[in-house]
Amino acid sequence: MCGIVGYIGKNEASPILIKGLQKLEYRGYDSAGIAVYNNGINVVKTKGRLVDLDEKVKSLGGVSGTMGIGHTRWATHGAPSDINSHPHTSMSGKITVVHNGIIENYLQLKADLEKEGYKFVSETDTEVVAHLFDFYYDGDMVDTLIKVIDKIRGSYALAVMCTEKPDEIVAVRKDSPMLIGLGDGENYIASDIPAVLEYTKDYYLLNDNEIVVLKRDGVTVLDMDKNEIKKDIYNVTWDISSAEKGGYDYFMLKEIMEQPKAIKDTIHPRIADGEIKLDDVKYTDDDIKNIGRIHIIACGSAYHAGIVGKYVIEDLARIPVEVDLASEFRYRNPILNKNDVCLIISQSGETADTLAALREAKRQGVRILSIVNVVGSSIARESDDVLYTWAGPEIAVATTKGYSTQVALMYLIGLKFGQVRGFVSDEKAKAMVSELDKIPEYIEKLLTLDKEIEGMAKEHASSENVFIIGRGIDYAASLEGSLKIKEISYIHSEAYAAGELKHGTISLIEEGTLVIAVATQDNLYEKLVSNVKEVKARGAYVIAIAKEGNTEIGEVADKVIYIPNTDDKLTASLSAIPMQLFAYHVAVERGCDIDKPRNLAKSVTVE
Ligand code: GLU
Repeated sequence: MCGIVGYIGKNEASPILIKGLQKLEYRGYDSAGIAVYNNGINVVKTKGRLVDLDEKVKSLGGVSGTMGIGHTRWATHGAPSDINSHPHTSMSGKITVVHNGIIENYLQLKADLEKEGYKFVSETDTEVVAHLFDFYYDGDMVDTLIKVIDKIRGSYALAVMCTEKPDEIVAVRKDSPMLIGLGDGENYIASDIPAVLEYTKDYYLLNDNEIVVLKRDGVTVLDMDKNEIKKDIYNVTWDISSAEKGGYDYFMLKEIMEQPKAIKDTIHPRIADGEIKLDDVKYTDDDIKNIGRIHIIACGSAYHAGIVGKYVIEDLARIPVEVDLASEFRYRNPILNKNDVCLIISQSGETADTLAALREAKRQGVRILSIVNVVGSSIARESDDVLYTWAGPEIAVATTKGYSTQVALMYLIGLKFGQVRGFVSDEKAKAMVSELDKIPEYIEKLLTLDKEIEGMAKEHASSENVFIIGRGIDYAASLEGSLKIKEISYIHSEAYAAGELKHGTISLIEEGTLVIAVATQDNLYEKLVSNVKEVKARGAYVIAIAKEGNTEIGEVADKVIYIPNTDDKLTASLSAIPMQLFAYHVAVERGCDIDKPRNLAKSVTVE
């Protein structure tokens, strides 16, 4: 993962680099460092967070210079330590690099370089790039970079400085994100837009192995044969304030609260006169009728949105749906037929495993439809069709609005495909679209339960285990609820299909074990009530999530959170909200670092 930044211009580089890295800290926070040119290259780096780096720089009286690169790390090779922090410098001190990704053949390269007399000081894969660049350096940064790219294998976004080049940074990316911010007399490199948004809204997106020469007065992009590439200038349409906390203690809470708007922005442009219009994809009615199978491919919460999608699309559109974890799909020799569609889901559009799975599917000639939040991201660009979730920037590592907008698109796809294929009548579609339209309003209502849920969270913050049970779509929703609890509060949590409990896991229920029972499906409600009774009989404390009006469950559960009464299919959008709030408040109560959970990072751009 990691975040990288670069700056060349007329202003002091170090504050710009540090501020930029702060905006990228969601990508990794094991260590941070900067390198600034000033008649030589000064490197300051440290284990820990950006605040630690900032303090270190201040204690040194600042680091002066108008060109520099910076890095915030999510360690893949070598522990988070001062020495493994980026930037890394070649033995001669001439070359300094920052890197996001993994150099897969670093051991071989390291052995070769050691034979040439290079001494390694860190355990990282990245250090080989610094020495290799130094080894090939012939006075021309681009020529040297091309030789280095030719030797390294894996994924990389790299920015390189040389003591002999006071006016030039070179950079390249492959399978790791990187964009170029365009200023006036100054230019920027960044892993993601928020890092440079304070200074510019204009940027270039890079394709794999496009080489960038960043100078004060301009940016040149070259291919591997050194031909200049004319790049389109993209323009950010959202404001810097969208990437700030805006008075909330944590981004996660801000993003939970933003869900009504995010969902509205995602579905409204696609509903006109009560009908769904997926105008942004090029599927004709015949295309939709001829789909053989949909393979949903994703990781983490996006995978859970995909499981909701399976229940919804199979039921409404009668198309068989398989849901795969991207890291499994790509290596399991999947069976894909020519009428199949791969539906790729990724908030960042840069998830390395998902991108690789997309490429595997594409190689097999299957049509790719993706659901992505970041416009122009790699997955978006490599797909045949893209449905954007208009959630705005999501900064908290634990997704909330990213996930719920993905779920909202599952509904749009299921309904649209179901209608075209003749399994959803116009009347039913109208009724569902009208309910879908009300989801943002229903979520507003649910968000007013914040205080009540905070109270429940305080009571249960010392739990060691939490089980979440549900059937059908409620089971899919439980998976995401359980992940939220695990990732931010570090409480062990399991999601179980309620009917499965008796086949094993019920043995784990003991006096006082917290069970959250999601019971929103009318046809499964009574069965779920029985499952609640079963766990109650074994001493569990049960918080149920049920639809308004279904009060019987209150007689068996200890507490009930009621969600607005809507179509059964649509409840996954609603049941998610109390579970997000519960996880959030439990984590606050336990003193966890909500936006930066341990060992995690957002936008997983390594395998
Ligand atoms: N592989 C590099 C390291 O461990 C970069 C890690 C990353 O991009 O996540 O330092």
